[in-house]
Parts: sequence; C-alpha cells; structure tokens
Amino acid sequence: MSVYAERRARALAAFGGGVAVIPSAREIIRSNDSEYPFRQNSDFWYLTGFDEPDAVLVLAPEHPEHTCVLFLRERDRTMEIWNGRRLGVEAARDVLGVELALAIGDLDAKLPELLVGAQTLYFDPETHPAFEARVRGAMRAAHAKTRRAGRAPHSVTDPADALHAMRLVKDAHEIAAMRRAGALTAQAHTLAMRATRPGAHEYEIAARIEFETRRAGAQHMAYQSIVAGADNATILHYRENRDVLLDGTLLLVDAACEVDYYAADVTRTWPVNGRFSPEQRAIYEIVLAAQEAAIAQVQPGRPQRAFHEAAVRTITEGLIDLGLLQGGVDENVERERYRDYYMHGTGHWLGLDVHDVGRTRDAQDRPIALAPGMVTTVEPGIYVHRDLPCDERFKGIGVRIEDDLLVTNDGHENLTAAAPKRIDEIEAIVGSEAVTAVR
Ligand code: MG
Ligand code: ZN
Repeated sequence: MSVYAERRARALAAFGGGVAVIPSAREIIRSNDSEYPFRQNSDFWYLTGFDEPDAVLVLAPEHPEHTCVLFLRERDRTMEIWNGRRLGVEAARDVLGVELALAIGDLDAKLPELLVGAQTLYFDPETHPAFEARVRGAMRAAHAKTRRAGRAPHSVTDPADALHAMRLVKDAHEIAAMRRAGALTAQAHTLAMRATRPGAHEYEIAARIEFETRRAGAQHMAYQSIVAGADNATILHYRENRDVLLDGTLLLVDAACEVDYYAADVTRTWPVNGRFSPEQRAIYEIVLAAQEAAIAQVQPGRPQRAFHEAAVRTITEGLIDLGLLQGGVDENVERERYRDYYMHGTGHWLGLDVHDVGRTRDAQDRPIALAPGMVTTVEPGIYVHRDLPCDERFKGIGVRIEDDLLVTNDGHENLTAAAPKRIDEIEAIVGSEAVTAVR
C-alpha cells in the first residue's frame, strides 16, 4: 500500500497545479456476453494497485480537503454472487490508502468540484475514448461553478509525460516483480526446450510455457506467444501456433509471463531435433554475437541507441562473411542494407507493459541516456525470408535471441540469463525430456 501512496505523492508533485483523472480499464466483450480476461490499465495500477474495472482515480494537488480521491463500484450482493467480490467504498480507504473513496455513480456530480481551482486537466482521451465526453462535461460544469470567482481548467493535457517518466525508472518493488517474471520465464523456456522433438506442435510448446509459468505463480502471459517453427520464424509476429515441428528445422519461441502485472519478454531459438545444421549454426552465432555486443552497451550513461548500433554492426559483418550481403561494412550499415535480414529495433522498454512507456529521445530529440532502474529488452535477429534473392541454403532460417536487461549503478543485470542460449547448452537440453504425453 505504501508503494502506491508514495507513487501518488510523486505524481501529485509532477502534475503541479493540475488535476489528473486516471480511469481504470473497462471490461471488453469478446463475443456475445462473454468478456476478454480483465486487464487493469497500467497507469491506474501503477498508482493504486487496485484491480477492479469501473473505477477512477482523481489526483487534485490543490484541493483544500483531499488531494487523492478514488471512485469505485459499490458492494452489491447480487452482483458479487454472480460475478465476484468487490472491495467497496467503505473498505477502500483502509485497503488502498486513498484519502477519500466515493461511489463511481457519484463521479459526474463530484468531478466538477474537484476541478475548480486547477489550471490544467490531465487526462488521456486516446486510451479512454468512452470517458472523454464525461470529462469534458465536468470541465464545463466546473466553469459554470466558477463564472464569477476562481478558475477551472480550459484544456486537456496528456498525463503521459509526467507519469511515464516515472514508470521508465523502476522502483525496488517493480524490480522484484520483474526479476521473478524473468526467472519464471527462463525456467519455462528451458522446460519447453526439453519437451521439443520432431512431430510435436507449435501449440504444445506454447501451452507448455504457459503451464510452467502459471504453475510457478505467474498470473498471465505478458503477450500472445509466438511459437514459430521452420520459416514461420521469418514472420515477425507469427501467432497462429498450429504447425507441426519438422526434423531439421529451427523453432523460434518468443513467449513470457507477467508477474504482479510486470512483464518479461524472452525469445530463444533452438533446433527441433537438438542439433544445429551448419547454416543454422552460422546464422545463430551471428545473432548471439550481436546480442552479446549489444548487451555490453547496456551501461548507465550510454545513449539508448548504442546497443542497437552495436547489434547492427555485428549482424552486418556476419552477413557479409556469409556472402548474404556484398561490399563493405560501413556502406552496408549506412545504406541500411542489413534491413533485408534485420528489420526491427534491438530493444524496447519493459515494465507494466511489454512495450513499455517512456521516451527514447528527450524534448530536444537527443537519444535518452540509460540510467539505473531502466529495463530494456535486447533482441537482435536475422530472418532469411524465402523471397529474398540469396543463397538457397539459408532460406527460411529465422533466429532471434531476446533477454531483459536491468540497468544498474555499475552496468546491468540480465533478468532472463537463466534461459539457455549457448549452442552447446541448447544441444544438450533439447529433447531430453522423456516422452509422457498421449497422442
Ligand atoms: Mg519478445
Ligand atoms: Zn521484445
């Protein structure tokens, strides 16, 4: 509870004289009357630790009586029998530490009063479109109240600059959750490698990773698993996960869990039969070398772009050595010819969201420098699409290796280091589990 109170205090200071309206996520229909699994809005979770829909947090720094108000669902015996427990207004103050808790039904009546005196209203209409009309209505009502004296906000400003700068640098509570998400995911990848053999299906591997992380205590997957056998690996966001795994091909697995709302994001690539072919090995070694060169750049004070540049250079050199690119390293880098094989960035912020918030360039458009508490993925890859006019032997090979790196005071900590990635380790592990499944 104190973690969230401390974050709200910092957010209140960051919002200055403005009032921030931060809604929860809503339940979303999947089909007819059944819903998608509920996932709380990350900003709302960051400031409350409260996992119910139909709630709104209002931070009003200048308000004379209460700077922090939570609107939430009331207790309801019938609804709770059918749909699950609710915290309720009475318990919210003690459980969540907010100054004032009110019924969500009172929001339209109370919000204008909370806006009086504020210069700016912080609200994100893109994330909460269904809520925008109510917020604008509250602004009009606040102006009506203050026609003669006082003031009320005239414009709506995105709270992201203030809030997402906070979320970019993880506190101890967040780092603990991310360490665990990384460790559980690494263990699940190891077990999935053991269970891989020709004739298994992509969906079995996906299910195994989900099972292992859930069994160990993770609540959700952090994103839709990518389990891509053979040249499915050259489709960056392949998610069908339904093909059979073929002898002699590679399997690319990009799958990870979420622990207490914090994501891991891990990719490993391994041979279905446990042995890399010479061509697979050659590509894999380049990607691994690129990842190691990139990880070495994850240091406090280094520009965020540096690790991408290191990965690009290593991949370009490797592609030239294999004859997949022609010419010198510098010209291939400058003309971005490597992009035929490596068309994505080398990393993104990681946290409450798998592609987490936070800028990569500052207000002057300079690259952000890495700082302790930031968490980034490092995930180079090479994808030799069938359509590329290149050496046939390499066609259909796709390799990505992805780890989650916490920037520390003196370098970095790899949160997902326990997932095997050396060739000798992988070849020793893949397929080593005794077959027990009934087909
Ligand atoms: Mg990933
Ligand atoms: Zn990623």
